Amino acid sequence: MAPIEIQTRIKEIIQRSHNVKSFRLEVEGGILDFKAGQFLSVSLGADAKLKRYLSISSSPTEKCYLEFTKKLSESDFSKKLNSLRAGDKVTISYPFGKFVLDEAVKKIAFLSGGIGITPIRSICKYIVDKNLGIDVVLVYSNRSVRDIVFKEDLAAMEEKYPNLRVAHVLCETEPGFKCSVGLIDKRVVKNEVPDYRERKFYLCGPPQMVEAMHKILTAELQLSEGNIVRENFQGY
Ligand SMILES: Cc1cc2nc3c(=O)[nH]c(=O)nc-3n(C[C@H](O)[C@H](O)[C@H](O)COP(=O)(O)OP(=O)(O)OC[C@H]3O[C@@H](n4cnc5c(N)ncnc54)[C@H](O)[C@@H]3O)c2cc1C
Repeated sequence: MAPIEIQTRIKEIIQRSHNVKSFRLEVEGGILDFKAGQFLSVSLGADAKLKRYLSISSSPTEKCYLEFTKKLSESDFSKKLNSLRAGDKVTISYPFGKFVLDEAVKKIAFLSGGIGITPIRSICKYIVDKNLGIDVVLVYSNRSVRDIVFKEDLAAMEEKYPNLRVAHVLCETEPGFKCSVGLIDKRVVKNEVPDYRERKFYLCGPPQMVEAMHKILTAELQLSEGNIVRENFQGY
């Protein structure tokens, strides 16, 4: 459907990690149809500097709010967003984007890092809530445990839906936390996704990271382009 501009109000703000917050919006008149994995634009003022594209981190199955999740920086946009409180107005346009699930494919894998988890969280939640039976491996890399966004949420989904497995990759070891150490590379993909030839891959994160993961899949593991879907978070 064609994107539409809408006035919303903040319903709730959730701290997801030390520098990431989710903003849940109340959409008067009801939430427009969107697909898990799509994104919206958020405007916090007339100035173009106060507009950003952000993935929708809620799933279409979560009908009481529309959620986006932002890594907060020192930018004017981040500072303004961080100053908002429940009840404040936010202008959004949505839905945009093609980073969406092909429900006909029954085995998939996500490769993601840091804030790149946002559309993936939406897709996973959709798969779990709809009990689609799709087999999912999520390989999620972060610097340290404190940087993991949606940590408890992902664990709860794993618990509820046995066909979802989250494989954490951290730059440093963490006592008592199960993870691979290092970056997502060929070895990690082969270890965590041994049946990688049977899966469709979804990559999301900053452009450099997506490019590196794409290279691993195509140049090192000889997977075909048709089995890879990418979302680049331009601006990082
Ligand atoms: C499809 C999509 C989905 C995204 N989803 C998320 C998300 O869920 N959470 C999240 O935190 N971030 C997301 N981003 C990135 C987000 O739009 C911001 O670029 C990022 O958060 C940095 O903004 P900032 O204000 O914190 O940083 P800044 O310090 O302002 O850095 C951003 C710099 O990049 C420029 N810039 C901003 N947007 C773009 C763009 N689209 N193309 C090129 N340059 C740009 C700015 O002008 C600025 O110079 C997404 C980006 C895209 C394109």
